[in-house]
Amino acid sequence: MDPLKALADAERKPYWLDSPARPEPRPRLDRNTSADLVVVGGGFSGLWTALMAKERDPSLDVVLLEGRRIGWAATGRNGGFCLATLTHGLANGLERWPEEIDRLERIGVENLDEIERTLRRYDIDCSFERTGELHVATEPWQLDGLGEHLDLISELGLDYLPLDQEQVRAEVNSPTYLGGLWERSGCAMLDPARLAWGLREACLRLGVRVYERSPVRSLDDDGTTITLRTPYGSAAARRVALGTGVFPPLLRRLKHFVVPVYDYALMTEPLTAAQLAAVGWHNRQGVGDSGNRFHYYRLTDDNRVLWGGYDAVYYNGGLVKPEYDQRDETFVKLAGHFYDTFPQLAEVGFTHRWGGVIDTCSRFSAFYGQAHGGRLAYAAGYTGMGVGATRFGANVMLDLLSGERTERTELRMVKEKPFPFPPEPVRSGVIQFTRWSIAQADEHEGRRNLWLRALDRMGLGFDS
Ligand SMILES: Cc1cc2nc3c(=O)[nH]c(=O)nc-3n(C[C@H](O)[C@H](O)[C@H](O)COP(=O)(O)OP(=O)(O)OC[C@H]3O[C@@H](n4cnc5c(N)ncnc54)[C@H](O)[C@@H]3O)c2cc1C
Repeated sequence: MDPLKALADAERKPYWLDSPARPEPRPRLDRNTSADLVVVGGGFSGLWTALMAKERDPSLDVVLLEGRRIGWAATGRNGGFCLATLTHGLANGLERWPEEIDRLERIGVENLDEIERTLRRYDIDCSFERTGELHVATEPWQLDGLGEHLDLISELGLDYLPLDQEQVRAEVNSPTYLGGLWERSGCAMLDPARLAWGLREACLRLGVRVYERSPVRSLDDDGTTITLRTPYGSAAARRVALGTGVFPPLLRRLKHFVVPVYDYALMTEPLTAAQLAAVGWHNRQGVGDSGNRFHYYRLTDDNRVLWGGYDAVYYNGGLVKPEYDQRDETFVKLAGHFYDTFPQLAEVGFTHRWGGVIDTCSRFSAFYGQAHGGRLAYAAGYTGMGVGATRFGANVMLDLLSGERTERTELRMVKEKPFPFPPEPVRSGVIQFTRWSIAQADEHEGRRNLWLRALDRMGLGFDS
């Protein structure tokens, strides 16, 4: 189908949030209150922090303040790939923290196992399917990359299955596939908005006081108590956790480490039985291709295809604006790539198109820290892989606030900070040149130019 025609009726809103299951918002904070712990942010970071704070100590009085609606931001707009990795993939983790990669992989799998158990414990139905992720090569040079990946994996004894061209097409039938690697247990597919709403419900059941439409405008510290002011009331506490993602930070230092990168996605109409049979996909894995600019795609529980990624857009100036949620140029490109990948789905149209902001940092995986004499903790910079890792980050924040030394707090990954981005306007120049270099690498069989090689050597980069 012509991409423009296929997109003509696509709603301009995130598919997951456009659901009758979306609960009514909780009331605003409209008075002054105090609590033992205030959590700011109602995405996965904040929700997991509030929930696990109550699980650790049911007597704790916990308040959660969300500026808009629970899960409206990255949390309700993502691909729903819930990954075990805490390091934005094995290769990135191995490059940066080789001596602790075994531990990081184990803790990541435990974290994913715990997410699965939490869903059972609170009866959260978010269509969780632990089907793994299929990494596919669509260019010959990408096969070399998968081969190198396989060598690393074999050393660590992880559960991956290499697939040749015929085998990978038997899993998911695309004429573009040359080979693949199926990471079998380290990834689950889920509906992220229903997970967020389920976590909200679990928080409420445990007695967390959740306030929506309550943006925190300022943070004052009198040395003992931190007071968070919203337009109609304030919340004071001895402990504060920030799970505010990419948004203008309440702690100034965070703005040096995180930049907003826009990522876009499409959702098709549900496939008919015949259309699904034409692609196979019996094992329902999430799929990611292996270019520097990659697509991620997956089936939903009613057999739509979510198709996203490729363009990772940084708008000069680094602002977060509602109008950036839509980018027709990217949607048309994505639709064209979808039909190239699945020509047998030429008659399938799209029902939704949307974008969202990714909290990107220069090491690609989240960083953690404390401020205000250890009474405030933060976690940010998940760089497009926070559906699972935010639960780990929430645990780190709670460990830090408790003053406990745990296996998590002793990790070098947790103790170190990423390299800061330069200030604007240099920041925009550097990022746009890096994006251009990445596109060039994809067009020249993966060959990285001098600039990318220099960044690689310094352990820096740009990703979504
Ligand atoms: C298009 C897209 C696709 C993605 N795909 C995947 C994927 O498949 N797998 C994966 O692992 N990750 C993916 N991600 C990334 C993932 O969604 C995020 O890492 C994760 O949701 C981050 O959660 P968070 O709670 O830290 O941030 P957010 O979801 O951004 O939540 C932060 C919340 O804090 C609130 N807030 C901010 N400031 C204030 C304030 N001052 N007062 C009150 N509230 C405030 C905001 O309103 C917001 O609700 C994707 C992201 C996008 C955008």
